[in-house]
Parts: sequence; structure tokens; C-alpha cells
Amino acid sequence: MFSDKDRAHFSNLETPFYYYDLALLKNTLNTCKTAADSHNFHVHYAMKANFNPVVLQQIQKVGFGADCVSGGEVAKAIELGFGKDKVVFAGVGKSDKEINNALDNDIFCFNVESVQELSVINELAEKKQKVAKIAIRINPNVDAHTHANITTGLDENKFGVNSWDMQACADVLNLSPNLEFIGIHFHIGSQITNLDVYKNLCIRVNEFAKWFEDHGFKVKVLNVGGGLGIDYHNPNQQIPNFEAYFKIFADFLEIKPYQEVHFELGRALVGQSASLISRVLYVKNGKKKNFIILDAGMTELMRPALYQAYHKIENISLPTGEGIVKYDVVGPICESTDCFGKEVELQQTFRNDLIAIRSTGAYGEVMASHYNLRETIATVSSEDIV
Ligand SMILES: *Cc1c(COP(=O)(O)O)cnc(C)c1O
Repeated sequence: MFSDKDRAHFSNLETPFYYYDLALLKNTLNTCKTAADSHNFHVHYAMKANFNPVVLQQIQKVGFGADCVSGGEVAKAIELGFGKDKVVFAGVGKSDKEINNALDNDIFCFNVESVQELSVINELAEKKQKVAKIAIRINPNVDAHTHANITTGLDENKFGVNSWDMQACADVLNLSPNLEFIGIHFHIGSQITNLDVYKNLCIRVNEFAKWFEDHGFKVKVLNVGGGLGIDYHNPNQQIPNFEAYFKIFADFLEIKPYQEVHFELGRALVGQSASLISRVLYVKNGKKKNFIILDAGMTELMRPALYQAYHKIENISLPTGEGIVKYDVVGPICESTDCFGKEVELQQTFRNDLIAIRSTGAYGEVMASHYNLRETIATVSSEDIV
């Protein structure tokens, strides 16, 4: 929600820009930390959701680790002061260079996504006379009941090692003196709002943990990934129910005294704390349609074009017209998918009105591109407004 002070501040700024509500971000992080601590659970923040330093500094302060999916993220996490012993590295396609850099940095754990990758890490670690700590990322074939493009834990997805390859993993591990197996890892998808999905995940985690222990491997880490969703329709409801989320794992995981439970939350921690603020360039009448053309487009926020994602759109200028009008809200980019919402009901809208596209803290700014030679846009934080 925006105050008159925010509006006055925004009206003097060049648009578009990402606005970060740092008070809300801190509140969300602290709520999550308290809920996790009460179960002794460990959280690694999934850096790919948002790596704006303004955001990362807050997350690092709360004491979360970093969940990285590229060499660049590993380097950035360490540079910003996330302890090396709290950096985990997942990804189906880790290059030799990325693996070598992570080995040099003695990160906490590689989340390994194929049998071949196990052998490669062992070879590279051997050359450095190091022992790499690894967890096997398992594809548990659990349906996340979310959008197909952000489902990652089904047999047809590229992520993780499939159940039928467990024995092959065990064989490589037994022959690899430069690998130390520490546990198992899962991440079944994103924007998961049906918490029952996590009950199904817990059942599978218990089965795989038992399989490894039965085959002589001590499973010290149960890493259940992330994916907790946010309420895009109610951006002012704000803080996800972390307590309910963690309670499912406390209730359904069979946790042994020597086991740690790790989480990798991204969206739920940062999603609600940003809005993309844009200005109306033109209002135009199409055939049986009204268009609002913004100065922000899919180059600043790609989720609607990429996976038909919904974001709440608000006209935050003081109303000067009459009543509510339906608009297709589009950007300036030369693509028909450059559309933020169809038939969006807004107060009657005029050139130069300010439009807020809400809940854009996760997978927003980080996915920005220079397509059409667009410029990088500014970050404005609530602490800039005094
Ligand atoms: C993206 C990702 C996450 C975080 O997903 P969210 O839906 O943002 O919580 C966690 N773990 C891995 C391996 C990921 O790739």
C-alpha cells in the first residue's frame, strides 16, 4: 500500500523503477527466521529469486545461508559475506569452471543432479586433493500442482536424479574417495500454494532417506528445497504462513537426532516486498478494448510473458476521472506477449498516471533483459523516502 508521501516521492522520479519496501522485507525475514528456529530448521535463501544487493544485505544479516544455481551466484554470496559453510550449489549444468571455483571456496555442499556429475566432481576434487561434500538431488516424482513451467519434480523434468538411478549413485559414491555424501536434496517446484503437496514430498523424503541408510550411507542433511508460494491476488496480505509451512515438515518428516533439515526459500521471502512502478505513456482505444501503454515492459518484468503469471495492477495516482474502466495493460516492447494483464479494472486512467505492478520482489528485476536495447532501471528503497 502506498502513502501520500510515497506518491509524492515517486512523482519526481524517472520511471520505471523497482520499489523495495524494506520494512516489509525485514519483517518477512524475521518471521521466517523465528518460525524456522523454533524447529531448529536451517534456511538457505534461493539467490536467483532476487540478487539486488539491497535485498541480499538484509538476508545475510538475518543469518540465512545462500542457495546458488550458478558460479556467479556462489561468488556473489561469498563476496556479500554469506559464510562459505552456508553456501549450497545446485543446478543441472554445472560447468567445470564453476565446480572448480566452488571447490576452491570450500562451499558447504554441491547438490548433485546426475550420476555423471558425481564422477566429474570427484575427478575435479581429486586434482585439487580435496573432498567435496555432496547431496544427491532426487527427483521424487511429486506433483507440485503449480504452473507447468515452474514444476521441477516430475519424471519428465530435467532436474535431479531419478529414482531408478539411486543404485548407480551409490556405486559411484562407493568408488569416489573425493566425495563425501552428506545427504539428500529435493526441490519440486515454485509458487506452491497447496501445502498438502509438501506432505507428499515428506513421504518421499522419508523413503529415500531410508534407502540410503539401508545401503550404508549416513544421511545427515535432509534438504527439502523451497517453492512456498505467495498470494499474488492480495499483495497487502504480505507475509506467508511460515509457521504452517514448517509445521508440515516437523509433523511428517521422520527426523533422526543426528539429522539437520534444510530449506531453500526464495519467492516467499522476497516476493511481496517489491513493486514495479511505471508511468502511463498512452491510453489508446483498440477494437472493443482500451489499452494502457506503460513505460515498463517485459524487459523489466518477464513473468507474465514467460508463464502467464498474474500480478495485481493498481493505478496509484489520485483519481481524477469517473468510475472504473477495463484496460489491457501492456508495455512498449515489440512482442504481443508484452502484456501485464488483460481486462484489468482500474480507475479511469490518463497519460502520466503512476501504475504499480505488485508482488514483483521475486523473479522480477533479476530476469530483466536489454532486449530492444532497453536500459537498466533504478532501484528505490523505502528508506530513500524521508
Ligand atoms: C529456484 C530454487 C529454489 C527456490 O524456489 P522458490 O520457489 O523461489 O522458493 C530452491 N531450490 C532450488 C534448487 C531452486 O532452483
